[in-house]
Amino acid sequence: MIAIIGAGPGGLTLARILHVHGVDAVVYERDASRAARTQGGMLDLHTDTGQLALREAGLEEQFLAVARREGQDFRLLDHTGTLLLQEDTPDDAPMARPEIDRTDLRDLLLDSLPAGAIFWGRSFAGADPRPGGGYVVRFADGTSAECDLLVGADGANSGVRALLTDVRPTYAGTTAIEGSIHDADRTQPELAAMVGRGNYWAIGPSQTVAAQRNGDGTIRVGLVVHRPEPVLDADPATIAALLDGWHPRFHRLVEACELPFVVRQTHVLPIDMTWSPRPGITLLGDAAHLMPPVGEGANQAMLDAAELGRAVAANPDDLDKAVAVYEPVMQTRCAAVAKRSAAVARLMSGPDAAQEMLKFFQG
Ligand SMILES: Cc1cc2nc3c(=O)[nH]c(=O)nc-3n(C[C@H](O)[C@H](O)[C@H](O)COP(=O)(O)OP(=O)(O)OC[C@H]3O[C@@H](n4cnc5c(N)ncnc54)[C@H](O)[C@@H]3O)c2cc1C
Repeated sequence: MIAIIGAGPGGLTLARILHVHGVDAVVYERDASRAARTQGGMLDLHTDTGQLALREAGLEEQFLAVARREGQDFRLLDHTGTLLLQEDTPDDAPMARPEIDRTDLRDLLLDSLPAGAIFWGRSFAGADPRPGGGYVVRFADGTSAECDLLVGADGANSGVRALLTDVRPTYAGTTAIEGSIHDADRTQPELAAMVGRGNYWAIGPSQTVAAQRNGDGTIRVGLVVHRPEPVLDADPATIAALLDGWHPRFHRLVEACELPFVVRQTHVLPIDMTWSPRPGITLLGDAAHLMPPVGEGANQAMLDAAELGRAVAANPDDLDKAVAVYEPVMQTRCAAVAKRSAAVARLMSGPDAAQEMLKFFQG
């Protein structure tokens, strides 16, 4: 039995791929139910990573039915309001990086699992090696479960990670202040037209205003601030001060958000983090390689799941061998991706970030 901690994109993709291969696996998730909290905005899933994993999971058709081709639209501006780049997606454009609502992705994966494959309301509290191999996993509600392999897919603040390494994520010098405009076409038609069908970024010195249309008509807005000390909380006056000198349209976009704003500090793990392999346990996704949020984390988590699922399917009677095949390949791949992601994050935080990002997208 394989126990997966966490029902994010990584954990659920692994559970599905293992079930496709006839391997017993269950997911233990801290949330009380699938509807316990909103899942956040959109994810763009790439052909060779997130979409590849969904193909291996036998879910490509279901994905294409809910993916938003037009979500690939992109507008890039500078903080004065000058439009630098506009990419509109033709109706027959390839689905290279279509957007999918996180809720749609989670539902698609959950619906693909057999009954009883997920336990809600089980918050991982610790695990002890079992004599003879595997782990006994303890949950905050006092229950426990046994497994032959424990997979930590429990995200940025992973508790499973602590069984393999003392390394913890550190603040990356970026804080995102996030809000939403619901039913934007009706409530804020001018702003909705300005943002368009996909992503809308305005980049200024040390800050970005990023807006994104979701499938349900909500526009999610983020003011991303790059500075050594984290922004701890945000009210309209703080935000107005941060946007001093920016074109009034960006003030209007942020002011249209429903209060309160959510303030999220970005944390990262060291780019080349590894750990000494231990029998009966491994990590995937943000638990293994937390990188700046520049569009790779979920894609890599799902590719981890595909690679681990493949390794287990090839070695069903020797799970430690499967982990030995999976971990070094995953760690090498993700170190390279984390390095690239950190470089993009640095470009976005520089003094001439708008022009740098224009060059990046044109190149
Ligand atoms: C603003 C933003 C935008 C992003 N945009 C993109 C994008 O466009 N494309 C992309 O590829 N990536 C994007 N990312 C990154 C992406 O969200 C993550 O990399 C991805 O969600 C990681 O997936 P995961 O399955 O490893 O972890 P998570 O999605 O974090 O899932 C972990 C799961 O574990 C559960 N859990 C946590 N602790 C416990 C516990 N103790 N016990 C049981 N369960 C637990 C959580 O409730 C959660 O369900 C973005 C990130 C941010 C912050």
